Amino acid sequence: MLGNMMQGQLLISGLIEHAEAYHADAEIVSRTVEGPIHRYTFSDAAKRSRQLANALTKLGLEKGDTIGTLAWNTYRHFELYFGVSGIGCVVNTVNPRLFPEQLTYIINHADNKYLFIDLSFVELLESISASLNGIKGVVILTDNDNMPETTLENVICYEDLIAAESEDFSWPEFDENTASSLCYTSGTTGDPKGVLYSHRSTILHAWIVSTGNVANVSSSTVILPVVPMFHVNAWGIPYAAAMLGAKLVFPGPALDGASVFELIDSEKPDLLMGVPTVWLGLLQYLKETNQTLDSVKNALVGGAAAPRAMIQEFEEKHDVFLMHGWGMTEMSPLGTATSRTDAMDDMDIEDRYDLQQKQGKAFFGLEMTIADDEGNELPKDGVAFGRLLVKGPTIVERYFKSNQSAMDANGWFDTGDVAKIHPEGYMEIVDRSKDVIKSGGEWISSIDLENTAVGHPGVGEACVIGVLHEKWDERPVLLIVKAADADPTKDDILGYLEDKVAKWWLPDDVIFVNELPHTATGKLLKTNLRDEYKNYLINK
Ligand code: AMP
Repeated sequence: MLGNMMQGQLLISGLIEHAEAYHADAEIVSRTVEGPIHRYTFSDAAKRSRQLANALTKLGLEKGDTIGTLAWNTYRHFELYFGVSGIGCVVNTVNPRLFPEQLTYIINHADNKYLFIDLSFVELLESISASLNGIKGVVILTDNDNMPETTLENVICYEDLIAAESEDFSWPEFDENTASSLCYTSGTTGDPKGVLYSHRSTILHAWIVSTGNVANVSSSTVILPVVPMFHVNAWGIPYAAAMLGAKLVFPGPALDGASVFELIDSEKPDLLMGVPTVWLGLLQYLKETNQTLDSVKNALVGGAAAPRAMIQEFEEKHDVFLMHGWGMTEMSPLGTATSRTDAMDDMDIEDRYDLQQKQGKAFFGLEMTIADDEGNELPKDGVAFGRLLVKGPTIVERYFKSNQSAMDANGWFDTGDVAKIHPEGYMEIVDRSKDVIKSGGEWISSIDLENTAVGHPGVGEACVIGVLHEKWDERPVLLIVKAADADPTKDDILGYLEDKVAKWWLPDDVIFVNELPHTATGKLLKTNLRDEYKNYLINK
């Protein structure tokens, strides 16, 4: 027997309409690409999203068409999230940090009809425009006074495009399973793969992420999302903020410690969101200038493992709780978080840091398990570790334009991460399955070693890779970028690690390097290093 309730569709246009009706005066503050701080309200954003919807319709865009963006976190990108998806088109947020060949691949593969780009990316787009197919025009996200000279063809000024349009637009109703946005994974090998989100998956994810056990968003929250809107939908927070009427503070292109702190100081966010590297920059700046984070209560940190030293520094110097989050493009993107609990308040602080270093408990809607290479489920005892598998309504079912399922025979998606699950439900990432070091049949976590190594004051950044070994198949080697003004030796580092990791985990060598390679999303790029150092121990 079916229930007797209405079939209202979960549509992204409904979020901005709701924000306008009930949180009209909630603010959206942006550091613009042009420089000045811009501020307006959800009511303004809703009106301009409707003007944009009218303009897109006049450009001839139809339901299912894809529009690409190359843009920072600002109010104009926010309008695109709602204006484009609201009319049934798909917003393909392209990560400008990718290599030109990957950008070309994505823009062509997504079949983008128009590109909406920030001033910062005009030259970048000029450099690849000859290899792009089917682009009817490029809209520059600025006003007439700031329009650049460019060799790009069919260029339109964003403010001109929407200025003449009516603020009235009736958002169409359609199936909530309609595609809304498209984000490509930035894998280290092979072509990027597209994850095509739906209105339903996006709204469910935003709803879940805003609940008390995760980001705890309400109309009293002031959020500074440094996590980019050009990757993983800024963890869904633009949608969640519209749902709850939370104030948004967008940092635009200025992500250095001084600029981020300037915004924190003036706009008083209580919730920060972003990857660890950004917070390293901020914490370093605060240390140098002897300042503290007074308004901030929580920092949701994910995308890569948050080091213990960062958890500790946020807590002890700034009274900020670091909530560790984990997820991936294929998961909309968040799946777990270590939110603050009453039990944590009563814990010994070191035990609490242990817990905060874990990636957290699954949100409602996400099923999670671990399995061995044969697919046999492993015990959730905090000891066994294996491939981390997930399923749920916010997880990819197949990649864009692929006719193969991304799920295994039992409906699980293999995250490519290796993890433990503790009896009380906390998940702990051990490594990426391709990065884990297989030494004599046992696994060594490169992430654990890196996190421990960065606790040494002389270490700026650490990277552990497995290299070939005659007896043990693979052994760990530690690459280190020294901290500014520090000059640690190999013995200092090994001595420091000695009582912190199992003896057989100790790296076989420590190599000092000037810098480490990163992917476009700020993760260590280990594939090249593995190639470079493959025979390092054998030839030594
Ligand atoms: P992306 O799709 O670019 O967001 O990358 C997703 C991957 O980043 C995950 O599969 C993990 O390997 C890694 N990752 C994300 N969050 C964390 C975290 N909190 N700790 C460790 N690794 C993480």
